[in-house]
Amino acid sequence: MFQFSYKLKVAERVKAKCERHPRYNPERDGRNGIKGGCSTCYSLYDLHQARLMLDSAHREFLRKAIPWTRRDQAQRKPLPLDPEDMPM
Ligand SMILES: [Zn+2]
Repeated sequence: MFQFSYKLKVAERVKAKCERHPRYNPERDGRNGIKGGCSTCYSLYDLHQARLMLDSAHREFLRKAIPWTRRDQAQRKPLPLDPEDMPM
């Protein structure tokens, strides 16, 4: 029997900016918006990608865990899942 408890808490607040390219925004400008191969801008881009992967992994974990999740009756809430997200 596979059983584990899982508690995820991510509360890092990051405010990062390239000193040479203060207007670079990895979310808006993407990889192609990096000027002159700036390593700091690449780091910001990688950080943004890591955040997207973290969010995606968290959603995927929740989606896969829902059928196996046991909750106390007193805490039972509607499943936070959009029916359109269900695989067919
Ligand atoms: Zn830069």
